[in-house]
Amino acid sequence: MKLLSACFIAFVAVIGASSSARAQSADSILVNGKIVTVDGPFSIREALAIKDGRIAAVGTTADIRKLAGAGTRTIDLQGRTVIPGLIDSHLHAIRAALSFSTEVNWIGASTLPEALGRIREAARTKPPGSWLIVAGGWNVQQFKENRRPTQAELVAAAPNNPVYVQLGYGWAMLTPAAHKALNITSEADLPQGGRLEKDPGGRLTGAVTGGQGAIIALFDKLPRPTFDDQVTGTKLFFRELNRLALTGVYDPGGNNLEPADYQALFKVWRDRQMTVRVIYTLCGQTPGSEFEELKNWTALLPVGFGDDMLRFNGLGERITFAMNNNDRPTEADKDLYYQIAKWAAGQGMSLTMHWNRDATADQLLTIFERVNKEVPIGPLRWSIAHLNDASPKSLERMKALGMGWTVQDAMYFGGEQFQQQAGPEAARRVPPVETAKRIGVPIGAGTDAHRVASYNPFTALQWFLDGKTVGGVAIRGPEETPSRADALRFYTMGSAWFSRDEGQRGSIEPGKLADLAVLSKDYMTIPVDQVAGIESLLTMVNGRVVYAASPFAALEDKR
Ligand SMILES: [Zn+2]
Repeated sequence: MKLLSACFIAFVAVIGASSSARAQSADSILVNGKIVTVDGPFSIREALAIKDGRIAAVGTTADIRKLAGAGTRTIDLQGRTVIPGLIDSHLHAIRAALSFSTEVNWIGASTLPEALGRIREAARTKPPGSWLIVAGGWNVQQFKENRRPTQAELVAAAPNNPVYVQLGYGWAMLTPAAHKALNITSEADLPQGGRLEKDPGGRLTGAVTGGQGAIIALFDKLPRPTFDDQVTGTKLFFRELNRLALTGVYDPGGNNLEPADYQALFKVWRDRQMTVRVIYTLCGQTPGSEFEELKNWTALLPVGFGDDMLRFNGLGERITFAMNNNDRPTEADKDLYYQIAKWAAGQGMSLTMHWNRDATADQLLTIFERVNKEVPIGPLRWSIAHLNDASPKSLERMKALGMGWTVQDAMYFGGEQFQQQAGPEAARRVPPVETAKRIGVPIGAGTDAHRVASYNPFTALQWFLDGKTVGGVAIRGPEETPSRADALRFYTMGSAWFSRDEGQRGSIEPGKLADLAVLSKDYMTIPVDQVAGIESLLTMVNGRVVYAASPFAALEDKR
């Protein structure tokens, strides 16, 4: 027998005592479903009630129906599964959103003709001469052909537009029209470190290669979307995330992200049109001046500033350029990092740090331990992002510091390469989420989209469960493969921890914000290889239907 929660009983008591039962009845009820609550015991319920943007009760359909009054909207789930709204704990959403209405997206394309077809389609709908940009989020292994597009293929798809296609942070193909528009006639015209790629016969391919800095600088030369485009892109991107059951993101700043780039998001927030809750942190953007920059930017921005839809959370994922992707920082590099981290701790800020290799994580952890001796960081919810090959020793040090770990599906795209470099044995334990869970390190899930990965949480959830790369190679062993319940927990309650939101969201429990998604298939029982194909049929944020598809399409609140 399913027991009613204490809150439910209190809610019923309030209704009974009120002379105005109508004012006290639920705003919405969802009945006849499979509610995966993600509460402590991972309870499954049939129905739930929503009042004033929060979950009022969960229970059986019969019990919840008693909370309906004349003005209550009843949503019959017809057996469908409901989960708490997903939260990506490491998604470069603010940057992705800016160009979402103007970029071409290759996420999910499984063949080159399909990807090129999206370029062709964009060329048809945009004026001749306008830029067609694929800014990342794809990988050669996702294509049946297992290769990059050639310049000739891009020209054939869009003969009248400059086309720019970036792969990760190391390669970008430009059509001749794009070279011309950027005034690139020789290697001397490229940003420092950039090279014109040549084929084995010595002919130019049309692509530019180089280090991350060169590719970032090249991308900076592209025309930026107008402010109106950015606002439109932000709303469309959030809706796209809602379509995939996401109701929250933790945005860790990133490359090419200046204060001006936050203004579209701020406008959407001011206009009360946010459909995804955004937690954000700031990165220094000028090498050498990061400390001054961060002090200036946060002088009037206390940690926690904002509201339930948009909130500032501290620093990261990059603190200084000198310590960014640098396995051999100097003593001076480390000291500056320490000064900034200590200052952030003194300000009560959270801090999330991008670090890739466990072999060198000692340098970072030593700094955090030094800070912690002066200002305890345990209460501040600091974290490391990535660190896919985290050793038990590093995880134990993180646990001792009270730190969390945000885990992304980097191995979905990069697994084969990791396996080649580190060997199949090392690849079996990447990332070691079961070890981290045993040690007690809080885990959040996410994607690191959109330059280097897809933002689709169901791709990431499937990858958590089968360890398979985009090319279909299973590299992870069962010893580090989480259960479906745990993978979902990482993506909900786990991610909520990093912004101290686990008491507010991440599960469907009375009193929590009514953020949830009705799924197209039952995540808990369908074959694992179908998980990546799940979509939301109805997504609620704050009890408001921000996205809906058939058979619920009529319920969408198109404010
Ligand atoms: Zn990162």
